[in-house]
Amino acid sequence: MSDKTSIEWTNATWNPVTGCTQVSPGCDHCYALTFAERFRGVPNHPYQQGFDLKLWPDRLELPLSWKKPRRIFVNSMILYSKYSQQ
Ligand code: SF4
Repeated sequence: MSDKTSIEWTNATWNPVTGCTQVSPGCDHCYALTFAERFRGVPNHPYQQGFDLKLWPDRLELPLSWKKPRRIFVNSMILYSKYSQQ
């Protein structure tokens, strides 16, 4: 999560949930999975758990502290999940 992002169409990212489950062959080259798995097992890294689905309770109220409007990319690291269908 960041107030600065290189994604051109948004001003910030906010990821209260990270991770996903591969659901089809279309996931074979998933950018988010590849990125997150690089850090699996790295102590204290935000992706220490790799791309396993994880809720971050301490991030849920973060937008309440933002004073200025901004365009936010929510859950940029979970584009789709079978969990979101439940
Ligand atoms: S984010 Fe999308 S492409 Fe990546 S594993 Fe999940 S469903 Fe597949």
